[in-house]
Amino acid sequence: MKARTDVIAMLREGHSDASIVRALHVDYKTVAATRRTLHIPQHKPGKPPAANPQVLFDQRVRPVGGGHLDWTGYRNAAGLAAFRWAGRTYTASRFAFETHYGRPPVGKVIPGCDQDGCVQGSHLEDQPMRQKLRTQLASIFGGTS
Ligand SMILES: [Zn+2]
Repeated sequence: MKARTDVIAMLREGHSDASIVRALHVDYKTVAATRRTLHIPQHKPGKPPAANPQVLFDQRVRPVGGGHLDWTGYRNAAGLAAFRWAGRTYTASRFAFETHYGRPPVGKVIPGCDQDGCVQGSHLEDQPMRQKLRTQLASIFGGTS
């Protein structure tokens, strides 16, 4: 059998057998045989996967007053805002932190603003940032640490 390039192209784009049959007027056997030959896995029904984790993050946040971002998505048993992309679990605050600062956070990430659970990248602080702030405040006001 000589595989049709248009069938191959649609298979590689992730279309289902049924939609290729409809679009190209080929029979199911041709599509199935081409899929087997090229080892392309069966199309999974449902929404196509998001192109990157940022897309999923953006779908799960809601801007609130003051530039804060509310998380509207899933929370795990510990109440942590999280989402999965490409088989990996992302914590919303760590993802937002790394996207904003361009480096992975060190230690716990918590909002430095007064909005509980805020996931706005620029509002998030990790351990070294909090430490630096404490040191600065101590030098200004004369801390006890
Ligand atoms: Zn905030």
